[in-house]
Amino acid sequence: MSIATSERSVVDAVKGQLYIGGEWREAAGGRTMPVEDPSTGEALCEVADASPTDAAAALGAAVAAQAEWAAWPPRERGEILRRGFETIIARSDQLALLMTLEMGKALAESKAEIAYAAEFFRWFSEEAVRIHGRYTVAPNGKGRLLTMKQPVGPCLLITPWNFPMGMGTRKIGPAVAAGCTMVIKPAGLTPLSMLALAQILEEVGLPPGVLNVITTSRSGATTGPLIADPRLRKLSFTGSTEVGRKLLAQASDQVLRVSMELGGNAPFLIFEDADLDAAVEGAMLAKMRNIGEACTSANRFHVAAPVAEEFAQRLGERMGALKVGRGTEDGVQVGPLIEQAAVDKVAELVGDALDRGAKAVVGGRAVDGRGYFYQPTVLAGVPDSARVLKEEIFGPVAPVSAFDSEEAAVAAANDTEFGLVAYVFTSDLKRAFRVVEALQSGMVGLNQGIVSNPAAPFGGVKQSGIGREGGPEGIDEYLDVKYVAMNL
Ligand code: NAP
Repeated sequence: MSIATSERSVVDAVKGQLYIGGEWREAAGGRTMPVEDPSTGEALCEVADASPTDAAAALGAAVAAQAEWAAWPPRERGEILRRGFETIIARSDQLALLMTLEMGKALAESKAEIAYAAEFFRWFSEEAVRIHGRYTVAPNGKGRLLTMKQPVGPCLLITPWNFPMGMGTRKIGPAVAAGCTMVIKPAGLTPLSMLALAQILEEVGLPPGVLNVITTSRSGATTGPLIADPRLRKLSFTGSTEVGRKLLAQASDQVLRVSMELGGNAPFLIFEDADLDAAVEGAMLAKMRNIGEACTSANRFHVAAPVAEEFAQRLGERMGALKVGRGTEDGVQVGPLIEQAAVDKVAELVGDALDRGAKAVVGGRAVDGRGYFYQPTVLAGVPDSARVLKEEIFGPVAPVSAFDSEEAAVAAANDTEFGLVAYVFTSDLKRAFRVVEALQSGMVGLNQGIVSNPAAPFGGVKQSGIGREGGPEGIDEYLDVKYVAMNL
């Protein structure tokens, strides 16, 4: 089946090449790789498939541009981001369609991501002129202590497929604002949104060499030599904890600055005193945003025993009413998962929970036919031993288990190597603070099911990562502190 004309035109508008030193070029040997539509399994187009030689050229361009870029007036760096923000917003319909085609999520969700992605450019356009230092009198009253912040230098940015643009602007925005040059490698499954973004940044005047984009089917072989190159100064990665661990080991050779936004296993706690309507609403957002394919996705619902059954029933009714289908179709709320392997993994986790005695309130199966669809699913009575409570699901499945006390709820929430985000629903103020303080996570949603906000520091503790993206903290990841001891 061929795609619609409007869909073809947004795909054709993307230059499917490498962007290196301000030029669009083929990969060495003219190698290309296909990009697929996960709602049909059919190829949308081909893009350049970079080799290690291409990657080396990209790093060379970033290194060559670094000194001049660091000296650009901060206001002008910020204004490029501001124009980038405005252009993304002006083109959000086309960009959203492109994103839905390569990633699958419903158009309304792609539009929300485009707005979120653009906001990072607006936020960091404002931060570019707020890079502060300090001047203090030494404690002994004699010397003076001066601190200044300077760009870290050339960065390698690696992004995942689940938020193909937002995870890019969250890194590119602060790097541009701070005066760093960069090589970015989007996920091979969803390279088109990043290429479209590079076209926009070129158009709004980002100088050649500041941003270089390589798309490749051989991630490890292509980025490994860059991480080993002494000219690279920073690695910022968003993706799975498994790959993050490998990259951290590689980065240790050059003692690179690192930012790691890794996997999650978010607990969603509902206490007996919670407003259950608000909790169901929050659960829908926390679970179903991005088809459950988000690091912030609620992975497990721990609910006070007296309200657990009612909550599972009500969530089941809402989940069961969602319209599943190709993200471009009217009224569709739940698109396909990214690939067949994702459907298989979700099916395996659900099968394990059912085998151990959980009950499917709604869903519980993959959708027959083409594309990679899985039914929105609620599982009740999920025992502690079920894998679905321990592993990142990355799909539209909500396991519900009951707890008997606040201590048990907090213990269950913290019983994971991950620590990205947790959600708490309660109307008791003292309990809210007690629980928020006890949770081992970088972020907490208190009586709300979404935490992402470009003005706030996003990031995790434990094996969910190192560093923060967004907020006033986000730019510091791209700045080194220099201290000058002054003898006056
Ligand atoms: P992934 O498999 O770890 O891939 C992430 C990125 O790393 C992709 O660009 C991937 O490229 C690349 N990659 C894979 N192996 C590599 C290697 N050996 N060397 C260098 N690069 C490599 O993760 P994903 O499946 O794309 O994304 C889902 C994961 O990301 C989930 O665990 C989710 O929780 C996490 N995530 C975290 C955050 C956060 O902010 N904490 C946000 C979003 C997603 P290829 O795929 O082309 O190989």
